[in-house]
Amino acid sequence: MTIRHDCPCGSGRPLAACCGRYHDGEPAPTPEALMRSRYSAFALGLADYLLSSWASETRPASLPDDGPTQWVRLEILEHGESGDEGTVHFRATFREGRRWGVLEEHSRFRREAGRWFYVDGAPSVTRLKPGRNDPCPCGSGKKGKACCLRG
Ligand SMILES: [Zn+2]
Ligand SMILES: [Zn+2]
Repeated sequence: MTIRHDCPCGSGRPLAACCGRYHDGEPAPTPEALMRSRYSAFALGLADYLLSSWASETRPASLPDDGPTQWVRLEILEHGESGDEGTVHFRATFREGRRWGVLEEHSRFRREAGRWFYVDGAPSVTRLKPGRNDPCPCGSGKKGKACCLRG
């Protein structure tokens, strides 16, 4: 077990000073902040937060068990908002044991009564085949063999 000090969204800030505030009920101020907090909630397994930040018309009854999936890296490529609508284009890297992949999505968000909600998006998943001498897909900047691909 490793103890995580930094927020899973990769901001470099402690969880409590980053996405943790939104998990605890503070409204996320922008679609990007909501997206980051939802990514962190996926990484931490906070199903209630994911469901409560989903727009009512697209919210699933429950979340599928993502089993061995570990979310290791979030990259926000683009984000914007206009009035009560927002978009975020992101890439999220995950691993399932020795298998790695990237989920990329253009997500739509909507603000209702001062709170942003995730509406929907069109995800595409690409499998990664990281080499041991390539930069580690987790984004650490180290070679894979010196990081997550060790052993
Ligand atoms: Zn965060
Ligand atoms: Zn790594």
